[in-house]
Amino acid sequence: MKIGCPTEIKAQECRVGLTPNAVLEAVARGHEVQVQSGAGIGAGFTDDDYAAAGATIAGTAEEVFAQAEMIVKVKELQANERKMLREGQILFAYLHLAPDPDQTHDLIASGATAIAYETVTDGKGGLPLLAPMSEVAGRLAPQTGSWALQKANGGSGVLMGGVPGVRPANVAIIGGGVVGTAAARVAVGMGANVTVLDRSVPRLSYLDDMFMGRLTTQYSDQGAIEGLLPRMDLVVGAVLIPGAAAPKLISRDQLSLLKPGSVLVDVAIDQGGCFETSKATTHQDPIYEVDGIVHYCVANMPGAVARTSTIALGNATMPHMLAIAGKGWKQAMADDANLLNGLNVHAGQLTYAAVGEALGIDT
Ligand code: NAD
Repeated sequence: MKIGCPTEIKAQECRVGLTPNAVLEAVARGHEVQVQSGAGIGAGFTDDDYAAAGATIAGTAEEVFAQAEMIVKVKELQANERKMLREGQILFAYLHLAPDPDQTHDLIASGATAIAYETVTDGKGGLPLLAPMSEVAGRLAPQTGSWALQKANGGSGVLMGGVPGVRPANVAIIGGGVVGTAAARVAVGMGANVTVLDRSVPRLSYLDDMFMGRLTTQYSDQGAIEGLLPRMDLVVGAVLIPGAAAPKLISRDQLSLLKPGSVLVDVAIDQGGCFETSKATTHQDPIYEVDGIVHYCVANMPGAVARTSTIALGNATMPHMLAIAGKGWKQAMADDANLLNGLNVHAGQLTYAAVGEALGIDT
């Protein structure tokens, strides 16, 4: 199959859809891979790296779209990219169609087959092409939180791990799923005193077993959160209610319970945020202060570490990419119901019920 990888053009997106290693694997199986010049630069991969792996380098996105039977990307196609998509072409990327009627209508009109990373499943109730980015965001949360705690950034000047004779930071992580567990791992590793709150007792039990006494677990309700706030230096918001906006778990009034210079890192900001005072920020301008509390609310945290994120995403997408290229999408999906769950649009028809319900389009 002819596989094409254009440069990402969405603002601040430095990841790339294929790594040189993925190119190597595809070429070894007899596929032809074309990568747009410069596509990998933001993730630290040069054109020479791709050429050495067996890709041909295209000068423009137009060339890539014209040649490829399958386009592999990170982010959803932007409006001018959608004009290049054609009937019968396969698109494999994050799509997030439910809040995006323009993109959805354009993909339907294109006649292409669009497979969304975010709806591919793993048979255990997980979303394996979203999980690597949650791992990244979770591990970054204590790192950015500890940076925000520094005086120069408006923080209280508390060191995460403390030093001998001085207590470490108290960190609360609300939500103990993929993000929360990854955040706990790093915060514990930094020497902080960590409490994880969740509404799932089985999840708390899993964390309790896994961390063997190195953190505290607590059931998440308003009483528990209010009780913790006066002692916390850093609070990480990591909740998810699938298909719904994030619940607001700390109100503006409750900010006064925190010590001045404490930090809130709202990882759930891409679902609207779980603190009342959260508003999305960017890597260029990541923090702001409300009532003396520092907020970090970057909606695409993995972009800060584009190289790690690209490789992590590539590891998760590569088996599916190779299956689609090797068998064709129809056979690959016939063989793998989890990949079939990724099918969102095919031949002028929306095929994903939840998107149809959200946008009022027949599936
Ligand atoms: P997940 O489903 O693995 O975990 C979510 C957890 O939240 C679950 O364990 C659930 O029981 C718990 N939860 C639900 N309601 C709760 C409540 N009221 N109190 C405490 N816990 C509660 O999801 P995830 O992959 O860990 O993602 C968490 C959030 O991070 C999502 O909103 C996701 O979109 C977001 N995210 C953001 C970025 C970013 O760059 N900002 C990157 C990746 C993920």
